[in-house]
Amino acid sequence: MARIGVLALQGAFREHAAALRRLGADVREVRQLKDMEGLEGMVIPGGESTTIGKLLVEWDMLEPLRRRILDGMPVYGSCAGLILLCKEIEGSGQPRLGVLDATVRRNAFGRQVDSFETDLHIDGLAGGPLRAVFIRAPLISRVGEDVQVLARLDADRGERIVAVRQGHVLATSFHPELTPDLRLHRYFLDMLA
Ligand code: GLN
Repeated sequence: MARIGVLALQGAFREHAAALRRLGADVREVRQLKDMEGLEGMVIPGGESTTIGKLLVEWDMLEPLRRRILDGMPVYGSCAGLILLCKEIEGSGQPRLGVLDATVRRNAFGRQVDSFETDLHIDGLAGGPLRAVFIRAPLISRVGEDVQVLARLDADRGERIVAVRQGHVLATSFHPELTPDLRLHRYFLDMLA
C-alpha cells in the first residue's frame, strides 16, 4: 500500500485524502516536518498558494520538501499546488518550491469566469475525457523542454496548458478531487510504482 502525504496546511486536502484512500493508499495529512518521514509521495492541494507558501516557510517545511522532491519523491499539485511547484509565477515573488520548469499565471480566467467545469482530454488517461473543475484557476504560460503537456483547454486555441508532467512531478490547474472520477489520482499512484 503506497504511503502518501497530503499537505494539510490549508485548502482542499481532505478531498484529496479521501480520493487516495478510496484507491487503497495509506494517507497521512502533513502538517509539520516530521509528518513527511517515510512518505513515498505527496499531494499539494488547491487553496490559496500565497497562504500555503507562507505557512511552508513559517513551519520550516519549504526547503525540506523541495529537497525531498529533488531527491525523487513523486509529487502532485492541483491548482494552488501547481502554482507552488512552478519555477516562475507571473508578477509574484511569493514563496514556492520551484521544482517544475514552467511559468504560471495565477487567476488566469479573470473575475467573470471565477469557476467552470469542462470535459478534458488528458494524455495517458484511458477511458475518455475527464470532468475538470476549475476554481480561480491558474494557466501554465510556458513550459521547459523536459515538461510534457498532458492537457490543454480548447487545444485549437493555442497554449492554455492545464496539466503537465516533468518526470516525477505532476500538476493540474483543475481539481480532480472534487469529482468522483479517480483516474487522475490513480495515474499519480502509478507514478510511484
Ligand atoms: N487562485 C488561487 C491561488 O492563486 C488558486 C485557486 C485554487 O487552488 N483553487 O493560489
